[in-house]
Amino acid sequence: MLNIVLFGPPGAGKGTQSERLIEKYGLVHLSTGDVFRANIKDETELGNLAKSYMDAGQLVPDEVTINMLRSEVVKHDAPKGFIFDGFPRTNAQAQALDEFLAGLQTEISLMLALEVEENELKTRLLKRAEFSGRPDDADPAVIEKRIAVYNNETAPVKAFYQAQHKFVAIDGIGSIDEITQRLFSAIDTNN
Ligand code: AMP
Repeated sequence: MLNIVLFGPPGAGKGTQSERLIEKYGLVHLSTGDVFRANIKDETELGNLAKSYMDAGQLVPDEVTINMLRSEVVKHDAPKGFIFDGFPRTNAQAQALDEFLAGLQTEISLMLALEVEENELKTRLLKRAEFSGRPDDADPAVIEKRIAVYNNETAPVKAFYQAQHKFVAIDGIGSIDEITQRLFSAIDTNN
């Protein structure tokens, strides 16, 4: 299996690039943010719980997120692999993912980390708010909080995969096509 963690701060382009990767490599796209938003829309118990954290730009607690991720993975029968988009966001999540995948006789192949500087992220998120309908994109204070949470809690996850020699940094500035090509070549040379 080809299991990729597509990593990066909010607004780095993970969702957009995931679409390109699943098309080329035939992978299953698993975005924890998308699953939470679908649950909020359907007013499920999980959605109600996640909403207060998401609206504040905070992380949904690890235990809830990890359980949700596991139940999403097992929905797919004999997949070629997964793109994990927006997961793991803490070291505890990365550890749990490793253990869970080991139980399925597979593992993470590669972490591809999109790198974009903060001012560019803020501009992109406010622009995205015009069509995403996401309350967490529309409020500059929530954007600041999400970036701070990324820097403090999520960026350290890079070291987890660096230690396993699975980490590749990708320049996330340029046209969507240029960035896609960088991702393709990173996958093709490292896999
Ligand atoms: P995203 O769509 O990836 O930008 O995620 C939107 C929001 O969903 C985040 O700001 C968090 O509140 C929540 N979320 C998504 N993925 C995770 C995760 N792996 N761990 C905790 N919270 C998450």
